[in-house]
Amino acid sequence: MLDITDHKGKKDIKSLTFEELEAELSALGEKPFRAKQVYDWLHVKLVTDFGQMSSLSKELRKKLEDTCSLTALKTVGERISKIDGTRKYLFGLEDGNVIESVWMQYHHGNSVCISSQVGCRMGCRFCASTLDGLERNLRPSEMLDQIYRIQTITGERVSNVVIMGSGEPMDNYDNVIRFIRLLSHERGLHISQRNITLSTCGIVPGIRRLAEEGLQITLALSLHAPNDEVRKTLMPIANSYKLADVLKACHEYFQKTGRRLTFEYSLVRGVNDNLKEAEALASLIADQKGHVNLIPVNPIKERDYVQSGQKAIQDFKNLLEKRGINATVRREMGRDIGGACGQLRKSYMEGEG
Ligand code: SAH
Repeated sequence: MLDITDHKGKKDIKSLTFEELEAELSALGEKPFRAKQVYDWLHVKLVTDFGQMSSLSKELRKKLEDTCSLTALKTVGERISKIDGTRKYLFGLEDGNVIESVWMQYHHGNSVCISSQVGCRMGCRFCASTLDGLERNLRPSEMLDQIYRIQTITGERVSNVVIMGSGEPMDNYDNVIRFIRLLSHERGLHISQRNITLSTCGIVPGIRRLAEEGLQITLALSLHAPNDEVRKTLMPIANSYKLADVLKACHEYFQKTGRRLTFEYSLVRGVNDNLKEAEALASLIADQKGHVNLIPVNPIKERDYVQSGQKAIQDFKNLLEKRGINATVRREMGRDIGGACGQLRKSYMEGEG
């Protein structure tokens, strides 16, 4: 369900589309060009309250303040990695919840990893975000503002956005789609859809729906196992959707959008990392258009999963490549600052942050 009102029932101005904003302002008796100004203050100049909209009359600012709320996240924590400069942010929401986002610098530009929900209810065994279940969905404005705050704090333009933080984007579908449209809107930050990646644990109806949206984003599938049996031990969602159906939906996504996929595979020692499994993975995705991103599992203290050794990782990658499948090992960014999904938030909630 689309959420465009805040927790007190006030219209959330940063979650409105440009057309909705135009309608809102015209209902307040304003001329159409005002919408352009307000949209620019919100989505380009990135102001955090109506008082900063200095090109508007005091009267209009007051009217907006009375009818709408302006979502602005509070920075409650920042950690900078000494290893690679990755920064992890904890942001406070107006209802007291806390979420985390990550900023990473690559040679091709700056990337932000955003959360799409507070917590998560998917229950993946290796993931810290899901340990306390789902608290609530994030609104479009709360997803956007993770990027807006980070761009303001770092003073650097964000060029890539990955929806790979806490939460399952397909479980917050309408808000996530609106977020993507606002983020790539020509009057806003105008981030190219080709530089936006949505990662899902594999909710088939969501993948099918996404293929029909007319978007040019990259779809990443969290695969993590070459068969349903192993996958079920890591990801409860595998009990709802068979791999064969998930992969069929992925192939359809490619056919409809022309966008190659990313298959994420977190390597867990003794669970999914032997060469037979690499072989099975190669066959499983042989006719897919995409590449494999191997992620050495980031151990969390609540579970006893262990990272695969360097040699096992290399052998796994080499085997995939021998079978003609492109594979990269994801660089572990921000290992020293609680890099894995939900780790920092979790330690903050437990009073260690
Ligand atoms: N819910 C979405 C997006 C969030 S997680 C999804 O499941 O894809 C982003 C990626 O990180 C997923 O592939 C997820 O399975 C993986 N991940 C989460 N915790 C991890 C950990 N501790 N170590 C390695 N990968 C992890």
